[in-house]
Order: sequence, then structure tokens, then C-alpha cells
Amino acid sequence: MSFIPYALPLTGDEEIAEVVDTIQSGWLTTGPKTKKFETNFTKFVGVKYALAVNSATAGLHLGLEALGVGPGDKVITTVHTFTATAEVIRYLGADPVFVDIEGDSFNIDCDAIEKALITHPEVKVILPVHYAGQSANMTRIMKLAKQYNVKVMEDAAHAIPTTHNNKVIGTFGDITVYSFYANKTITTGEGGMVVTNNDEYAKRIGCMRLHGISKDVFDRFTSTKPSWHYEVIAPGFKYNMTDIAASLGIHQLKKAWKLQERRQEIAYRYNNEFSNIPLKVPLIVNKDDVHSWHLYVIQLDLEAISISRERFIDILAEKGVGTSVHYIPLHFHPYWKDAYDLKETDFPISTNIFSRIVSLPNYPKMTDEQVDKVISVVKSVLLEHKIHV
Ligand SMILES: *Cc1c(COP(=O)(O)O)cnc(C)c1O
Repeated sequence: MSFIPYALPLTGDEEIAEVVDTIQSGWLTTGPKTKKFETNFTKFVGVKYALAVNSATAGLHLGLEALGVGPGDKVITTVHTFTATAEVIRYLGADPVFVDIEGDSFNIDCDAIEKALITHPEVKVILPVHYAGQSANMTRIMKLAKQYNVKVMEDAAHAIPTTHNNKVIGTFGDITVYSFYANKTITTGEGGMVVTNNDEYAKRIGCMRLHGISKDVFDRFTSTKPSWHYEVIAPGFKYNMTDIAASLGIHQLKKAWKLQERRQEIAYRYNNEFSNIPLKVPLIVNKDDVHSWHLYVIQLDLEAISISRERFIDILAEKGVGTSVHYIPLHFHPYWKDAYDLKETDFPISTNIFSRIVSLPNYPKMTDEQVDKVISVVKSVLLEHKIHV
């Protein structure tokens, strides 16, 4: 059997036909397909506004900008994430306040959030990440936000679809941002979506994603301006989504629940097979919540095996199984470490799990035979290197 890549998207004839239709229509950039994708997305989440952008990073930037984050402000977030979550804070001249994660879900630690809120009165926003596709404790986070009068923007790059207390992620925070990068749960190649129920935020994001051009003058019913007229009200960005990307999104979104079912099936299969070997399977904190299973992250029991996590990954690759690590925590990266004087001991849980975690392939395109192969390779490698005491 050939190499099993760590991730692969699942696209079908519907996506291809839609892209061809878009190309033939002559309208390649933001237009009717993007509008349709946005409308469908509002219904999927159950939210007033959905604004398509060309990446989640762009969406996170626009979200914080709309929340009024600027120099002197602080944003609380987790170290156990991709750098995009935190870099957007720096785009606006604000500073992150990094906190550790919870040992079970690897989601942002709510006690640490509260401590940071008390010690940093400049905090304007809490920015949780739904790690691997398991919801952060949104009940507690929204309570803290209310108590300390701060806003919440969710990095939901892993969380479509994810639920918390029977509500879809996107219906909790002030603003929520999803990613459609090629290896995410649904994809447009590159792309993202920002959702909100707030009229002002939606208006600002809609304007800033396209050069700060105000749409108000385009209202053909109220405007007396000629059709070529437009007004720039701020130095905006170029973050709009193309109709080619939206063509993929329209069909990917329709399949989102079905794709989740297959990832969950694979995850449960792994969970069942990986008992009695030196690893820990991912912990499910709340069994009633839907987990998107974007990532399936195991923790190696390094005390019970004779190889490192690095060697384990190399052996798996030699045997034809691609893996990844989510994430190299931000306090291990030179920029974040030096700019904010971060120490490994400041984030004991993230530091500890970093040396043990491995993300295994878990995507709907995997065949049952490929899932079987991942299981047998993981089992045999760990049993072969098990320390006998
Ligand atoms: C992928 C990812 C992003 C960035 O998404 P892009 O669409 O590539 O900009 C942000 N945060 C997290 C947690 C991610 O996994």
C-alpha cells in the first residue's frame, strides 16, 4: 500500500461542476457565488451575518479590528495554537496575554483566563481556540466576559461543525472565525468566514475586507450618486473571497455534517483499537457536544517506550504513515518567546504535552484499509519499543 498522507481534502463532481460554472460565467472574483455561500453559512450556524474572506487569518484580523483593538490593548489567548491566532493581535499593535491549556481537552484554561483578567485591566478581548474541534468551555468564557466587561472572538478554525450545549459554535462569542484552508474540515483551498449577530461589527468587517470602501453609497434605492461612485472611509485590506473559492465552499458546507460523521467514525475506531498500548487517546470532555474531529491527537507514554516522539514520527513515515504535530506551542517559537519573555515553566501543561503529542491521519477520504494500516503500524511500533519492566 502506498504512503498515507497526513491530510487530504474530499471534493466531488459537484465542486468541480460549480467551479467550471463560475469560470464560464465570467465572474471570477467576489460575486453571486460568494453571496450564496455566505447566505448558506448564516443558516448553517444560525447567525445573522456571515462574511467570506480569503483566510481565517484575515478574518481574525478583521474581527479584532471591528472590536476596536489597538495599541495599548491586550487580548487573552492560548499558547497551544497556530501562530495566526496570536499574530493578528500584533497586526493591530496590541499585545497578547498568553495562558496555558487544560490537561484534558488542551483547550484554553478558564481559571488562567480569570487570573489574566484580574492582573491585566487592559484586556479587551478573550480569544479562545476550539482545539482539534472540541469546544472550549464557552459557558464559562461568556460568563467571564460579562463579569469583566470584555469581548469574545472565537478562533473556530477547527470547529465546523462543533457544538457546545447543543448550540453550534458561532452562536456564543461576539465574533467567530472559521478556516477553509486545504487541510481543514471543509475547504475552499484558501478561505475563511467571519460570523456575528452584531450589525456594527458586520458593517465594519464588510467594509474593511475590501479597501475600506463604504457600501452605503452603492445602495441603489437610496443613493443619488452615479454607479461609478464610491467612498473610502478607512485604510482597509484586500481580504475578499473569490467566487471560484466560494464555489467549493457551497458544496463543502452541504457535506459538513457528513464529513464530520466519517471523521468521528475513524476517531472512535482508533479509540477502540488503541487500548493497552503505551499511548493516551484524545479525551472527550463533554460527551453531549459534537466534536468536529479535525485533529486526532494521541499522547505517547514516553516513560513506557524506548523512543522519542521524533523517532516515532520518523518510523511511521518510513512505514508509510504521515503524521503531524499540533502545535509547537507559541512559547517555543523565537519571536513569541523573546518578545514576551515566555518561559517553558509559565505553561507547564502545554510544555509537557508538546513532547508527547502526535496527530494521526483522520479524514473522510481515508479508506477502511488505510485506517487499518494506521492502527496496525501505530500498535506494532509502540509494542516493539515498549520497555519491559
Ligand atoms: C489553520 C488555522 C488558522 C489559520 O487559518 P488560515 O485560513 O490558514 O488563515 C488559525 N488558527 C488555527 C487554530 C488554525 O488551525
